[in-house]
Amino acid sequence: MLGVRLKDYEGVAGKTIIEEIHNLGEALQGYKILHINSTRVGGGVAEILQSLVPLMQETGLAAKWEVISADPEFFNTTKLFHNGMHGQAVDISGAMLESYLATAEKNRHLLQQDSDLIVIHDQQPLGLTASRAESDARWLWYCHVDPRYAVPAVWYFLAPMIAACDAAVFHLPEYACDLPLLQYYMPPAIDPLSDKNREVTTEEYNGILDKLKIDPEGPPVILQVSRFDRLKDPAGVIEAFKLVRQHYSCRLILAGGSADDDPEGATVLEEVRALAEGDRDITILALNPEAHLEINVLQRHAEVVVQKSLREGFGLTASEALWKGKPLVATPTGGLAHQVLDEQTGLTAETVEEVAARIGYLLENPDIARQLGAAGREHVRQHYILPVYLRNWLKLLLLLDGRRNN
Ligand code: UDP
Repeated sequence: MLGVRLKDYEGVAGKTIIEEIHNLGEALQGYKILHINSTRVGGGVAEILQSLVPLMQETGLAAKWEVISADPEFFNTTKLFHNGMHGQAVDISGAMLESYLATAEKNRHLLQQDSDLIVIHDQQPLGLTASRAESDARWLWYCHVDPRYAVPAVWYFLAPMIAACDAAVFHLPEYACDLPLLQYYMPPAIDPLSDKNREVTTEEYNGILDKLKIDPEGPPVILQVSRFDRLKDPAGVIEAFKLVRQHYSCRLILAGGSADDDPEGATVLEEVRALAEGDRDITILALNPEAHLEINVLQRHAEVVVQKSLREGFGLTASEALWKGKPLVATPTGGLAHQVLDEQTGLTAETVEEVAARIGYLLENPDIARQLGAAGREHVRQHYILPVYLRNWLKLLLLLDGRRNN
């Protein structure tokens, strides 16, 4: 991944878009953009920033990425916020809110006085908005979840901080909120040249399967890759798999790791392990956050990929699987509904029974599975790969900065 240049994306994205990026970037030379989030590894935001920031720099922007530091109590609180943003009833005490704000205060030094734009990713660093009067920067809140189900206890705590920004960005137009600020939408993207998504050699492929103790000759693999989070419904995937197995010989792999800002991961992993206990057809893989090539190979090795999320901001794991031409069965929630267009770029399913039926259908119809996978890959290529995302970012910055001349 090191040393990847914009030009290297021409092969997947075409020349025109790379030229467009350079043209748009001309008006933004030296533009100081500071991204702030809550973890360097694990989860979608970290995944995006790892690839986006170096390319912004290559385009000529002075792009920086800072991560807030916080203690476990803070992340317990923000995980409750996260769950509350997704509609779960959560119990948040006054002491938790105070410590949330105190953590922001401790991270004030991250705000560089001379930024043109400060981008706050998700809710964890939002408390920093208390210091916005100290600089002339514009502030942008980038919401990476589906906010439509947010519970009032969380939303009304966060809303004034969001409103202190100049604008908000959501992944999808339907996520727009009742907020007194400009709102834009911009879906995220995968990096087709990263270790997570690039082509792999036969040696790498075999080596990883060997390391993960996955028999390359075994029955077809059904796969879900996700952090161990109840909103990704790993229990539902296991139930669906058990139904499929009544009719087809197959294996299930649930692969995922943790993120520094997700303290519930270990508990959910234990729950999932308990559900799979003693079942030799189910493999639970707890991966480390740097296991990009492992995820890449698993996705390539899978016969069918599942994303049975109960809520999903966007669902980069779906884009990753589609990019590898895999047939995907996904719940049509949040960004998954935009990626998996039913019977065109994959199959949608809501209940355990529907998920099982559609996995069975794909196992039985490999030609259709291949066609869906190929269409899925093209859909991702057109809309959800890094150069498209960078171009969207540059357009947004020009818009925000008032320097757009067409
Ligand atoms: N991911 C990873 N290791 C894991 C689980 C997930 O690297 O064990 C990556 C995954 O490949 C994807 C991102 O983290 O790039 C997850 O993004 P997504 O939008 O699917 O979900 P989020 O975790 O942000 O809710």
